[in-house]
This record gives sequence, C-alpha cells and structure tokens, in this order.
Amino acid sequence: MGLGPLWKLRRPAAGPEAAAASPEPAATPVVAQASAAPVEDSGTADRAGAIAAMDWPELEENIRACRACGLCRERKQAVPGVGDRRADWLFVGEGPGAEEDQRGEPFVGQAGKLLDAMLAAIELKRGENVYIANTVKCRPPNNRTPEPEETAACWPFLERQIDLLRPRLIVALGRPAAQTLLQTEVKIGAARGRLFAYRGTPVIVTYHPAYLLRNLTDKAKAWEDLLFARRTMADQ
Ligand code: SF4
Repeated sequence: MGLGPLWKLRRPAAGPEAAAASPEPAATPVVAQASAAPVEDSGTADRAGAIAAMDWPELEENIRACRACGLCRERKQAVPGVGDRRADWLFVGEGPGAEEDQRGEPFVGQAGKLLDAMLAAIELKRGENVYIANTVKCRPPNNRTPEPEETAACWPFLERQIDLLRPRLIVALGRPAAQTLLQTEVKIGAARGRLFAYRGTPVIVTYHPAYLLRNLTDKAKAWEDLLFARRTMADQ
C-alpha cells in the first residue's frame, strides 16, 4: 500500500492543529446541553429544528453567519466542511486550525496533508466520495480542545451535515469527534478496532492526524484502523 512513503512527514508537527488533537485529553462531558455562554442563541430546540430542515446552501450560509457560541469571536471565518455531498465516506475532525481559519477549508495544514495521505493509502481522495467536516466549525483560540458547550452549540450543524450526506461510514478522527458522535466517553486506545454506530451508520475511531504528526509510532495503528474502515465499507 506504500504506507511508509505516503505517510512520510515533511517536517515535525508544529503549529495550530497539533495542540488540539491529543487522543486522550481530560475527560469532558459530551454533547451537553448548550449553556449560558453563547453569544447569541446557543442551542434551543427551535434553533436545532430550523437547522434540521436546512438544505446545503442554507446550512453553509448559517454556519458562516453563526454566532451561537464564543468561538465566533476570534475566528476569521467559520469552516463548514468540504467534499462530495454524495460521499459514502465522512471523516470528522475536531475543529479548524489557523490555516483552516484563514482559508475556510478543513484540514489544509500539515495535519491536512497527512489526512490526504491517509485517504490515498486506502485509495480515497479528498472531494471524491469523501466529505470532511469538523465537530466545531470555528477555530478554538490557541487551538485548545472545544468546550462542551461549544461542541453542543455546533452539534446541530454536524448532525444536519450527516443527515444530508447519509454516509455509509463515518471515521471519527480523535477523541472529541468520537465523543461527539457517540455521545459517550471515549478513549482512542480502547475504541480503536471496534465498530460503533451513529443512528445505524457505522463509526470507526482513530487518531487525529495532528496527533499522529507528534506521535509517529502510532501511525501504524492508524493504518490498521484505515484497513478496518475499508473492510467495513466493503462489507456494507
Ligand atoms: Fe456557531 Fe459552531 Fe462557530 Fe460556535 S463553533 S459560532 S456554534 S458555527
């Protein structure tokens, strides 16, 4: 599969994405009810209901204009997601880093290059039968892990993206994405190799590419996870 060459790093992990991608951060509640911190309306049933009825253009427009949590304050722009809207594969990360914030596209920095290599290793390509999104659409300051209320406020957008996409398989990249999708505490080491489900859609958990940039020895495990994902897709 040429994994070694494909995944060879150009330079060490650095910069924004890396800080946000530890696989085992401190335990946090998952998809908690949106609380009082929002800039505007954060998570009411009305808001969630309205988002649940949006088509793609409305959804992206609303994400770009959203001020439902404090992450809107320091973003340059929101980053809705990118890819094939009829994709079988959905990859979900944590949140935009600096380059993503600048360019408005998820996974375009060093971690993005590694994600592209990971996709290529299982014969996938960004934009072709693949959609890429994040748990929160706005960059957390200093690339910290999103707070539970931020994740909760942003959840209706990811939920609607999944509803519109109807992917055949979801790959959760890192702990925040896994916890958001599965609504339970997740440790990547324990969750790897297991098949989960989000409303009937298979979910596979692996490391965030930014984590892999800093922990090269775990790349072999991520490769195993990708093979597991490919087998799972083939068995669908
Ligand atoms: Fe809105 Fe999500 Fe951005 Fe928060 S992170 S302001 S909920 S789009």
